[in-house]
This record gives sequence, structure tokens and C-alpha cells, in this order.
Amino acid sequence: MSRIAVYPGSFDPLTRGHLDIIQRAAKLFEHVIVAVSNNASKKNSFSVSERIEMVEESIRGLPNVDCDTIGGLLVDYLRKKKARVLIRGLRVVSDMDYEFQLASFNRRLSKDVETVFLMPDDQYTYLSASMVREVARLGAGTDQFVPSFVARRLKLKFGGSRD
Ligand code: ADP
Repeated sequence: MSRIAVYPGSFDPLTRGHLDIIQRAAKLFEHVIVAVSNNASKKNSFSVSERIEMVEESIRGLPNVDCDTIGGLLVDYLRKKKARVLIRGLRVVSDMDYEFQLASFNRRLSKDVETVFLMPDDQYTYLSASMVREVARLGAGTDQFVPSFVARRLKLKFGGSRD
């Protein structure tokens, strides 16, 4: 039985909410791969290599977690890695529509894949990468929302902080 789980996403950038999900998954599975999507049709603020660097810096203390990039179909990537579990984070009910659609789509593409939803700590329920980018753009510090390495990268990308 496969003990490998893949956590795919844009991670534009990785937030403390994403990291909370990664830490939970790392306790449940032998090996977790954080798969940063390289989807040309989605306009991201950070490049794939920037997003990967931020993930890698943030997972340093987690020996069973790796980071990779993913370009094609998720189910093909899972097959290649001999993984059967897809991790997704569920924050609020509004996430469910999209997440259920994605999970059922992936199940149609491969019967072997199971999507496992994990819930973050309450403090991260209303945290999203898009809000973090907006806050950074408006010139505020983002340390409470993202790991400190990511906060520094946001400051470099979007300019100075007010604090
Ligand atoms: P995508 O573009 O694939 O939705 P994201 O980086 O936005 O990529 O999110 C990846 C996964 O992490 C999704 O399942 C999303 O619901 C989840 N997620 C995002 N923010 C949080 C958070 N604050 N707490 C828990 N899960 C989250």
C-alpha cells in the first residue's frame, strides 16, 4: 500500500495555512510531496522557481516532506510517483464546491486516487494567498500570515512595509 501523499496547489505564495496542512499530512503519511503547479494558463504573482524556493525554505524542518513542480495531469503525476493520496485543504463551506468538483474529476480520471481533505487550525480558516498578496501590495507586513522567509520575499516583490 502506498504511503505517499501529494499536496498540489499554486502556493502563490505558501501561507501559514498551507504549512499547517503540510504539517498535518506529514504526521499521517510516510512521505508528502508538495507539488507546485506550473500552469501557464493561471497568472501567478511568483514564478514557479520562486514558489518552489519559498516552499523548500518552509519545509526545512520536515524530513519526510519534499517539494516538486507539476505541469500535466495530477493523476499522471501520482501514478509516476506511485502515490494514491491527494491532499487538499478545506477551510470554509465556500471551498467545497470547487474542491468536490476537482476530487470527483480526478476520481473519474483515475479510480486509484483518493482525495483526503484536511482542515487547518481555526486561526487559518480565513487565510488565503490572494489576501496575503493584497495586504503586501498595500504595503503592510505579512509575518503573521506567512513564514518569515515568504514575508521577506513578499516585501521584495511588492515594496516596503509600513512596520
Ligand atoms: P489552488 O490554485 O490549487 O487552489 P492554492 O495554493 O490556492 O492552490 O491552494 C492549495 C490547497 O490548499 C487548496 O486545497 C486550498 O483549499 C488549500 N488552502 C489554501 N489556503 C489554505 C488555508 N489557509 N488553510 C488550509 N488550506 C488552505
